[in-house]
Amino acid sequence: MAAPRVYQQLGLRRVINGAATLTRLGGSLMPPEVLDAMRDAAGSFVQLDELQRAVGRRIAELTGNEAAYVSCGAAAGLVLSTAACVAGADPARIARLPDTTGMKNEVIVHRSQRNGYDHAIRQVGVRLVEIGMGRSAFAWELEAAINERTAAVFYFAGAMAEYALPLPEVVRIAHARGVPVIVDAAAQIPPVSNLWHFTRELGCDLAIFSGGKGLCGPQSAGLVLGRADLIAACAVNGAPNHSIGRPMKVGKEEMVGMLAAVEWSLQRDEPALLADYERQVAWLIERLQGLPGVSVTRSWPSEAGQPMPRAHVHLGPAAAVTRDELLARLRAGDPIIEVSPARDGVYVNPQTLRAGEMEQIGEAMAAILAPVAARA
Ligand SMILES: *Cc1c(COP(=O)(O)O)cnc(C)c1O
Repeated sequence: MAAPRVYQQLGLRRVINGAATLTRLGGSLMPPEVLDAMRDAAGSFVQLDELQRAVGRRIAELTGNEAAYVSCGAAAGLVLSTAACVAGADPARIARLPDTTGMKNEVIVHRSQRNGYDHAIRQVGVRLVEIGMGRSAFAWELEAAINERTAAVFYFAGAMAEYALPLPEVVRIAHARGVPVIVDAAAQIPPVSNLWHFTRELGCDLAIFSGGKGLCGPQSAGLVLGRADLIAACAVNGAPNHSIGRPMKVGKEEMVGMLAAVEWSLQRDEPALLADYERQVAWLIERLQGLPGVSVTRSWPSEAGQPMPRAHVHLGPAAAVTRDELLARLRAGDPIIEVSPARDGVYVNPQTLRAGEMEQIGEAMAAILAPVAARA
């Protein structure tokens, strides 16, 4: 498969993405249904706030949530949901952000869940209050951290939940004191059932998803799902209103594309998709077997903690190249091949591969890892 013409004209190589739904590689690829909806939306002007509300109502219906908002990515969803908990829909408070004087301006997070995305929360002018140590957290720590300035508790689902209090316990303690719980579930699809699991089943007030990861929507879109009053406040804090969210504009094409992506994701045959990931991982294990110093195992769950497999290629001292040489040589080709570094080798993730690409990666790796004596 050749690179898209626009990339060729710019002198860029295309990337075979065996790493993950990484933003720096383009997130995910949109199916034709999403692209068609975006092209359709691009054909005329529309009342943007009415479109946002109509799309939100439809997404809420489809996912069994009270309400939904299309943000320009999950990180923007973190900003707007923080603003919603701090300033609500009060125009005077919204105008003052990120000055939070006199407002509830503390957000509780687990120390073990601190990560680069919490800048999105901090930019609203709140102070992060950490609970837990690196590898532990106790209910009394959450109870003691809640006070009259607490705006919300943020929780990062998936792999980052390993050393945190279980989410149902966080919800129970926070709700007993009237504090909302917001879950960042940006990369937690599959399974698509997470679109209602965190909110409807676990009782979280808001759940945030990336549009450009597992949902295969526009890369610059995201979803905030949950409580109607908080979603309404997200909208007032967002574009096109002059507010902290104004620089995070969502276009009409992205709003409609996000709806199409939710519809498409809900119709996807998830068991068949997961079975195909298993097949690809099994194929790579078989293909690289017997190469000196190389062994391949099935690794589970994914790097984000999703219930799906990836291949872990272990490189021992007898391998023909080191991990960094392997990564560099895979990146040096055309197309560029991207996989993720592991401590002792690399991971190959089927989630972002198109038909035939696992085989391309396998053949490229087999050539690089062939015994030195066997090379011409
Ligand atoms: C990817 C990611 C985000 C950011 O999502 P965008 O849609 O790129 O804004 C936020 N939080 C987590 C945990 C993520 O994995």
